[in-house]
Amino acid sequence: MREIHAIPLLTGHCRHPECMTLRDGRWQPVAFPALATLLIHPDEGPVLFDTGYDPAFMAATRPFPERLYRWATPVSHTPGQDAASQCAALGYEPTAVRHLVLSHFHGDHVAGIHAFPNAQIHCARAGLQDVGRGGRLTSTRRGILRALLPADIAARARFFEDAPSTPLPSWLSPFERGADLLGDGSLLAVELPGHCPGHWGLLIEDARRGPHFLVADAAWSSDAIRRDMPPPGLTTAFLGDTGSGRKTLNALHQVWSRSPDIRLTPSHCRERAAEAQAEA
Ligand SMILES: [Zn+2]
Repeated sequence: MREIHAIPLLTGHCRHPECMTLRDGRWQPVAFPALATLLIHPDEGPVLFDTGYDPAFMAATRPFPERLYRWATPVSHTPGQDAASQCAALGYEPTAVRHLVLSHFHGDHVAGIHAFPNAQIHCARAGLQDVGRGGRLTSTRRGILRALLPADIAARARFFEDAPSTPLPSWLSPFERGADLLGDGSLLAVELPGHCPGHWGLLIEDARRGPHFLVADAAWSSDAIRRDMPPPGLTTAFLGDTGSGRKTLNALHQVWSRSPDIRLTPSHCRERAAEAQAEA
């Protein structure tokens, strides 16, 4: 695989009871970070995996019924924390970003799309189709804020399902195949079913740390992967499919058990966010 320089971006936090995300978690509210990742590709330049929170999230959750989303998971997002501002501060103008890779369409992963108008949008067809399902209240309850999606998304979308399928390295078993997004083996999208329709992760060869699997919301924390501890069925059934979500978490647990040094990064992992802050 071609090496990629990966830079984690902490875009804010939301708060909700830990027991919504971990079956044996506590009732008291806990801050969950929202991470995006800037990937510097040797030829294509800056690529962004998810966008995290953005001021557009606050605007989209001002009216009802979308405000219910913000009430359910109160968000803390300060100026300059959005992915676009952080990219610019690192010397990468958002207009120069040519590729966005979206794990799924929940609002806390896509709020910043508007700031990257020249990027192709790599995503799951199943995910984008699901965005159009139901009215505003139903969508909001499922974590979807349609106002965050650009009007030209259909023209800019490149679907994971259409990318060349390639075998994954054996250490990633039981995951078997990935979608080669750029055709050079550098960005391999891997389906991680369960969290919501069309939920995928991304495997890269991180120049500093070796193989690095960005697993988005397939787990809420690295600790959950280590302990194979899913969220309660109530939470998972609300958003996606409990059975396949648990299978995916167990598969990640198997990968970790065999190769504990390989990096698996959930988007809302506090350990990973602490590392990101230490590096910044
Ligand atoms: Zn999600």
